[in-house]
Amino acid sequence: MEFRKLGKGAFLAPGSPCTLVIPFDGEMWIVDPGAYPERGEELARSLDKGKRKIVLITHSHSDHLAAIPKLVELTNAVVACPYLESCSARSVEIRKALDYGAKRSDKLTKIAPALPIRIDESFNPPCKLGPFESIPLPGHSFGHVGYLTEDGLLYAGDAFFGDKLLRTVVVPYFIDYEASLETIRNLLDNVRDYRKIVPSHGPVCEGKRAEDILRANLVTLEMLPKKAERILERGPISAEGLTAHILVEGGANISVWSLLISSVTIKSLLSYMFDEGEVEPIATESGILWKIR
Ligand SMILES: [Zn+2]
Repeated sequence: MEFRKLGKGAFLAPGSPCTLVIPFDGEMWIVDPGAYPERGEELARSLDKGKRKIVLITHSHSDHLAAIPKLVELTNAVVACPYLESCSARSVEIRKALDYGAKRSDKLTKIAPALPIRIDESFNPPCKLGPFESIPLPGHSFGHVGYLTEDGLLYAGDAFFGDKLLRTVVVPYFIDYEASLETIRNLLDNVRDYRKIVPSHGPVCEGKRAEDILRANLVTLEMLPKKAERILERGPISAEGLTAHILVEGGANISVWSLLISSVTIKSLLSYMFDEGEVEPIATESGILWKIR
């Protein structure tokens, strides 16, 4: 496995998600091992054999977890996880229900193998963990955290996405629209304090480039209520119907998979707009439809 140097003793194994590795105090700290068991094996082969390994995760989505069981089997690594993410890391069924609203067939939701993870320790951010401060970055998931080193390297997980991925998916996955907005605004306010920012699915960035990517994420989210309003003005529509229209108008591919993922964001957007008094749900024989208030 090829590691890229990020300076000040930090290494990155490229991938989607990418993996941050930092040797610290005689131990190896590994953040978000990745999406496949083979990657866990590769990581185990590439890391210093003598050192104790500690695995940290930003959140409990399968593509960030599936490399862990193999890595643990081969290196005896200890796994630590944000408290709020620990149930869904341990249980595949809870994970799927939380991510999509109900138990789901593997055939519908397969992005990476969904494997149960043994969690040895859980923690409540913010707190110090080896070379890191864990900081809450909620929105993509409820207990999502980032890991910040003393010298200003931030592994941001899925708190925001690379600009290329953003353009492809049109509506990125955020389970809590309002919390995501706040997380991205906070990152943008402090962007110049970070030496480098590492999103799990996107380029390592700093300075102006980091600012541009964060701003692209912010604009994508801030535009969603306006896009939704324009479509809702044509008449009541279901959350999934609204999702399909936004995806098509943004040039994204429609598939069962893209609708499943993006409708989570749109459902959380509609809840936010409902709380703001902008939309309301109506019960119909075609299910719940949303209309402008
Ligand atoms: Zn994720």
